[in-house]
Amino acid sequence: MLHIGLTGGIGAGKSTVARLLAERGAVVIDADRISRDLMAPGSVVLAEVADEFGPEVLTPEGELDRAALARLVFGDDEARQVLNAIVHPAVREEAARQWEEAPEGEGFMGVVVEDIPLLAESEQADRFDGVVVVEAEERTRVQRLVEARGMSEEDVRARIAAQASDARRREIATWVIDNSGSPEETAAAVDRLWTELRARAEETGN
Ligand code: ADP
Repeated sequence: MLHIGLTGGIGAGKSTVARLLAERGAVVIDADRISRDLMAPGSVVLAEVADEFGPEVLTPEGELDRAALARLVFGDDEARQVLNAIVHPAVREEAARQWEEAPEGEGFMGVVVEDIPLLAESEQADRFDGVVVVEAEERTRVQRLVEARGMSEEDVRARIAAQASDARRREIATWVIDNSGSPEETAAAVDRLWTELRARAEETGN
């Protein structure tokens, strides 16, 4: 089995590439989704977060108020580290569980991809057999996010500035997918990547 990390700066097209890989037969583990699920009302992780950051991070219904939490940790490294120390181990544990189960799935093709937005920032590249980094030019990323997600340009640029640089992500990349062009070009690049991943998975005995 080949265990691959997938990352990219916000708006670069990481989710798009994850979907294309899943369509080709990869098992995709979604770290964002796991972290959302782990923070469901009533969960131990959410209780720990509320203990640490106060009841203002909960809505009256007992759900996580993401915007409130984001305001508390944005630009505050220490608070962010405290939050990560609560959430990251739980996410990794659940990801490992999904990863171990992957070969039992029907039609397993030997490739597991962990989609992790902050893979470069959280220094975990060494856990993987290889890392795929999705890239697009900054102005393209800004344009897509403003159009598709309705974010303000200022917000997008602040988020990009808070993440690792393209150069830093390149340092951990085994493969780089350039998603600056058309969806068809990206699909063709993912086809080439998929062929290579399958070949490597077979070499490792799957
Ligand atoms: P990320 O997961 O890296 O934040 P997404 O995959 O969600 O980025 O892509 C950001 C937005 O840009 C989405 O709305 C997506 O549909 C759009 N998008 C992604 N790739 C392309 C492309 N090659 N051409 C046009 N739009 C794209």
